[in-house]
Amino acid sequence: MRIDSDKCVGCGQCVNYCPVGAIQLFQDEQNLKKKRSKIDEDNCVECGVCFRAKVCKPEAIYQQELKWPRIIRKSFSDPMVEFKETGVPGRGTEEMKTNEVTGRFKRGSWGMAVEVGRPGVGARLKDLEIIAMSLAEKGVAFEPRNPVTFLFEDVKRGKLKSEVRDEKVLSAIIEFEVKPEQLKHVLEVLKEMGGKVETVFSIDLITHPEEEEKGPALQIVKEMGFTVYPNGKVNLGLGRVLNQ
Ligand code: SF4
Ligand code: SF4
Repeated sequence: MRIDSDKCVGCGQCVNYCPVGAIQLFQDEQNLKKKRSKIDEDNCVECGVCFRAKVCKPEAIYQQELKWPRIIRKSFSDPMVEFKETGVPGRGTEEMKTNEVTGRFKRGSWGMAVEVGRPGVGARLKDLEIIAMSLAEKGVAFEPRNPVTFLFEDVKRGKLKSEVRDEKVLSAIIEFEVKPEQLKHVLEVLKEMGGKVETVFSIDLITHPEEEEKGPALQIVKEMGFTVYPNGKVNLGLGRVLNQ
């Protein structure tokens, strides 16, 4: 996103709308009585919030043409944009919320996701790569329909295409399947990652509730010292149940 400095009147209305603090109000050097706003392009994640907020009366905020690899920022940060490979708006696939319909995670395996970055922080994709490569060493299989998977040069190793590493997004989700016997090792890796990446991340774990006898996921997670926020979802019957 950019600001046309000829149109900007320095009202500052747009500044607080930016979830990563990329808009700065500064003194106009030509006219010390005036202020102007500028977008730090390296920090801007192209989420479009400042533009959609419609707070700029002189319409100084505009969307420049986005080319590869910068277009990735928008794909992962603007919920109004559909990622063409998955057909899903936003950062991830839909299965973490709709597994009873998609049936992607079968009984005997669990679904996991690592949500890298958050509003207010954002994430460089190179941090996501550090996590993905460490997970790949534990033998996890990345979800093929997730937008992040399309960015891998080597999906088995979790290695990104070199040109995307420096791109910054609001957040991106690594999704994969784990077998019950893998969970502890995966969580150990993720604990280590907390000190290795320059952003925040949260971990999702999806299990079948009646599956406890096959492996007590909740118990393992708690024993490893993670704080658990259980979440449930009620399907209102709008989807086809594939996970028989
Ligand atoms: S597009 Fe998003 S990240 Fe970029 S300046 Fe506007 S609000 Fe901030
Ligand atoms: S809202 Fe528009 S005019 Fe006001 S500071 Fe932002 S870009 Fe400039």
